[in-house]
Amino acid sequence: MTASLESLESRFADIKALQAAIAMMEWDQQTYMPRGGSPARASHLGSLSRIAHEMFVSEEIGALLGRAKSEVDPESEEGALVRVAQREYDLATKVPAELVSRKVQLAAEGHEVWMAARANNDFERFRPYLEQMFEIARQEATYLGYRDHIYDALFDQYEEGAKAADATRLFETLKAPLVELVRQIAESQNDPDDSFLTGEWPESKQREFTEFLVKEIGFDMNRGRQDVAPHPFCTGWSVGDIRLTTRFKPYLASSIFASLHEAGHGMYEQGSPAAWDLKFPMLVGGVSLGVHESQSRLWENIVGRSRPFWKRHLPELARRFPEFSEVPLDTFYRAVNKVQPSLIRVEADEVTYNLHILVRFELECDLLTGDLKAKDLPAAWNAKYKEYLGIEPETDSDGCLQDVHWSSGLIGYFPTYSMGNLLSYQIWNALRKDLGDTDALIERGEFRPILSWLQDNIYRHGKRYQPQDLIERATGRPMEANDYLTGIRAKYTELYGL
Ligand code: ZN
Repeated sequence: MTASLESLESRFADIKALQAAIAMMEWDQQTYMPRGGSPARASHLGSLSRIAHEMFVSEEIGALLGRAKSEVDPESEEGALVRVAQREYDLATKVPAELVSRKVQLAAEGHEVWMAARANNDFERFRPYLEQMFEIARQEATYLGYRDHIYDALFDQYEEGAKAADATRLFETLKAPLVELVRQIAESQNDPDDSFLTGEWPESKQREFTEFLVKEIGFDMNRGRQDVAPHPFCTGWSVGDIRLTTRFKPYLASSIFASLHEAGHGMYEQGSPAAWDLKFPMLVGGVSLGVHESQSRLWENIVGRSRPFWKRHLPELARRFPEFSEVPLDTFYRAVNKVQPSLIRVEADEVTYNLHILVRFELECDLLTGDLKAKDLPAAWNAKYKEYLGIEPETDSDGCLQDVHWSSGLIGYFPTYSMGNLLSYQIWNALRKDLGDTDALIERGEFRPILSWLQDNIYRHGKRYQPQDLIERATGRPMEANDYLTGIRAKYTELYGL
């Protein structure tokens, strides 16, 4: 190993240690910290983040990266480390510190104002913050640089190499067929009854059942655990220690599918080579938000909401919750796949979900280019909901004020959710080509071959390849919308008898 690479590795190890401390403190903040800990925790996190950032953006690291680049084989793990570190370094140094700190401050204030505006259905109160946030985003994009569309610069931060034109093309393929499918489902007289999922479900039993399920599909509890948080998420600080969270609600499907979703993220994180933890911490974990979301969606929707999955697990559910012992398999299967055009993205099913994203993507692009003025956002939002989902919010709280992203400066992020949905089907089809009858595997509870395939083709590569490269390696082609479209059309045509 060369001297510059060795120096880089020891510096990255120190930075990783700080990041691990930050992640652990953030996890604790969402799970166990008493409320009184808030102000001090925010200050500690601020200090640690600043120290980690300063260590990383030093001129010394820039110089070491420059030297290391010419010394490594670009195809090797070392080569991947240098490439990934250089990209992170560029993202962290291209935007002037002054603009970054203005954004952090605006996000902190804007978040408070957004919460109040949403609670009081008062868009005008939030509007000046939204305008400033998009102005900062425009400046950010200029510093980061782009060739075709201003959106590209921001999108790339979350999904390396992704372009607005690609997202536009995908949504163009999705839009008409999805709108039509949603319309057919809404008009069908065959609405599933899911009322039996609402009840007083003891938390301890929900905890046991969801832990049983995530272990069953292959989440390794010796290298992770599950706790409870108001908004479920997955985090971790080493390949050997990945934390899931779930939530318990009167609607039983809520904890079940939150757990399966987060376990999908978690198994991806557990799948990086353990040796990288100390050697190449920058290569550990999921390669992009879109690919990460494909894994949570695959386990949540394609496996977890399938008929064979419940053929196997409904008896176990009924053993723990006797209320379900009389529920026929088909009734249960249909209930957990109920499609309903709704106003709120986070409650959306897998059919309507991408339409919620489409609305946001189109509006984000227009707000960035200036084609849409912030004052006209509520009307534009409502018109698109009417057009795509056939429903219209009565308040901005249920409309353009519902998401946290813009107030926090996360602009260019939304399409990664849809990419995850599309990729989950594309990856599943590639897996099925190799494994054959996956329904039979799921029905027998044999999740090991499925997990091994994902491990070999996706998880073990961590961040080594660029996202598009990884997708092509795993599925033999670039991301496309057809697998998803064909998959959900088949599933819901049968389910709703269309
Ligand atoms: Zn997710």
